[in-house]
Amino acid sequence: MKGTYIGDVVGSVYEFNNIKKEDFMPFLHESAFFTDDSVLTAAVGTGLYMIEELGMTDDDEIVELFAKLYRAYTLSFPGRGYGGHFLCWAQRENAPAYNSCGNGSAMRVSPVAWYAETLEECERLARLTALPTHNHPDGIAGAQATAGAIFLALHGGSKAEIKAYVEKYYALPKTYAEVQPDYDWESLCDGTVQPAVLAFLASDDFEDAIRKAIALGGDSDTIAAITGPIAEAYYGGVPEELWQQTLPYFGDSQDGEPLIDGIERIYALHEKRCGKK
Ligand SMILES: [Mg+2]
Repeated sequence: MKGTYIGDVVGSVYEFNNIKKEDFMPFLHESAFFTDDSVLTAAVGTGLYMIEELGMTDDDEIVELFAKLYRAYTLSFPGRGYGGHFLCWAQRENAPAYNSCGNGSAMRVSPVAWYAETLEECERLARLTALPTHNHPDGIAGAQATAGAIFLALHGGSKAEIKAYVEKYYALPKTYAEVQPDYDWESLCDGTVQPAVLAFLASDDFEDAIRKAIALGGDSDTIAAITGPIAEAYYGGVPEELWQQTLPYFGDSQDGEPLIDGIERIYALHEKRCGKK
């Protein structure tokens, strides 16, 4: 989750101004900002907190809760780069899911991996976070592949195990080095989750993973928001100094402090439910 936010902020200045290299400087640009990836991740985190507090078990009620929270957070944090279809959906109170297979279901799902006690629970909840909008099979797969990869990384999975898990959803025939030079803009789940996972697999540490995600080009903030939490989980957290440098981007001037609360509560629940940080 911190990895989602860091990836989102770092990538925010490159989404429409791609930079195809890893050694870009500074790592956190002064013009960077949080975008829809962070906002909707906080909505998922808040939903999971409410599910726990209220003891919710009914799938339909949980989907309805996520739908309400996606709308509420989108209206509370306007102008954060929401996709056109998503914004139309969010502005119509009872609009049905629109069969999206875009990468939005993957970018917002990371809290599920920290919340879940088992891989089965992770896959179930990932599906439920997708359903309000991304009820296309590829939209659901993007959420499950991302959440499952993070879950395995959190619970000691190796890179080979994480790769094999993601390949249940998406083939990964090429390496990062083979894909990076020619990778182009892609907003669908499969074309975003695949390279995001490859950036993680090729990385040496958290920052390296984010740098590799950005160097792909394309939908930079969202790719990095997907690579980030996998790397965070695998490398045992994000570097504290980097998190402290990222927090001001969610500070008073951008009014993003509720977004920090949305993920902090899930770290606490993770500790409570899974017995570790
Ligand atoms: Mg974004």
